[in-house]
Amino acid sequence: MKALVFRGPGKIEWIEKDKPKIQKPTDAIVRITKTTICGTDLHILGGDVPTVTDGRILGHEGVGIVEEVGSGINNFKPGDRVLISCVTSCGRCDYCKKAMYAHCEDGGWILGNLIDGTQAEYVRIPYADTSLYHIPPGTDEEALVMLSDIFPTSLEIGVIHGEVQPGDVVAIVGAGPVGMATLLTAQLYSPAEIIMIDLDDYRLEQSKKFGATRTVNSSGGNAVEQVLELTDGEGVDVAIEAVGFPVTFDICQQILKPGGRLANVGVHGKPVDLHLEQLWLKNVKITTGLVSTSTTPMLLKTVQSGKIQPQRLVTHRFPLDQIMQAYEVFRNAAKEKAMKVILYNE
Ligand code: NAD
Ligand code: ZN
Ligand code: ZN
Repeated sequence: MKALVFRGPGKIEWIEKDKPKIQKPTDAIVRITKTTICGTDLHILGGDVPTVTDGRILGHEGVGIVEEVGSGINNFKPGDRVLISCVTSCGRCDYCKKAMYAHCEDGGWILGNLIDGTQAEYVRIPYADTSLYHIPPGTDEEALVMLSDIFPTSLEIGVIHGEVQPGDVVAIVGAGPVGMATLLTAQLYSPAEIIMIDLDDYRLEQSKKFGATRTVNSSGGNAVEQVLELTDGEGVDVAIEAVGFPVTFDICQQILKPGGRLANVGVHGKPVDLHLEQLWLKNVKITTGLVSTSTTPMLLKTVQSGKIQPQRLVTHRFPLDQIMQAYEVFRNAAKEKAMKVILYNE
């Protein structure tokens, strides 16, 4: 089969690899029909994720058709159409029993990281019974590719950690795929205002189509002042960080009003300055975390009903064998006006 293989920082190749085989009774082999590229794959290419080693097939998102199942699989059979979760869950360990699948003792985020991933014609899914979801007939599969990672991430680590309530003023820093998915899922909780903050005017313009009520371009370095001005000097109830830089975390901690919640979603490579000397007397909460994908069943229902439409984030489509080209487009997302790219292999 063909697969996209990591060859060390900055290097990927689309090459012939052995088709994966069942290794344990709890495995399934899935033929990928649609996959995508994540901001995290770019972090891997940048050398920021040292657990990914030379030869690894990348990718942790996608949908497909079950090709083969191990003898211990009860919920799936060959021919079933499935959504692949970016997080593998054994379903049995203490963390899985608490729905903290991110910390599964024999799983967590391993696909396209510690084991071969989904940017290939076939993938092996460990603990398939608890790591795959049936695709309801008639559901838009491009929408579901967004449910492997970015929608659960945005909902769990952004919106739910941030405790978005009806009537809240919410600021989201970062209008990339994760920030946009946060914008769409926050609206499930009816906030009064959603202020989107980014450096890129095109993305800010797009965010208005997705429900942002105000936008702030932070390239002048005065995002905090602009947000305070938009909120009569008060600040926001919820600030969601969806970038992963010290400067964007700093914006979030400076715009919180008393009782505010700061939900950090971005993956940080450098330490941030936490201004506890100012935050303590504002009675704020700060949260952060790795997605568990425990909200996937609920998100599936909201997609089925049309309440959220994740497919709106898809800007580009390529056949799977043009994935090298797709990486080029995704790497130059601002210039290419790209948000999410779909790689299809039907
Ligand atoms: P992205 O790089 O596509 O988007 C980031 C956005 O931030 C871009 O639109 C960029 O213009 C904007 N930005 C950059 N600097 C800025 C600044 N100074 N002020 C305002 N905006 C700025 O990333 P993404 O794919 O949307 O992911 C966002 C973050 O979420 C990444 O750090 C990613 O690794 C992380 N992530 C976390 C989890 C988790 O489980 N916690 C899961 C998936 C992704
Ligand atoms: Zn991802
Ligand atoms: Zn587990």
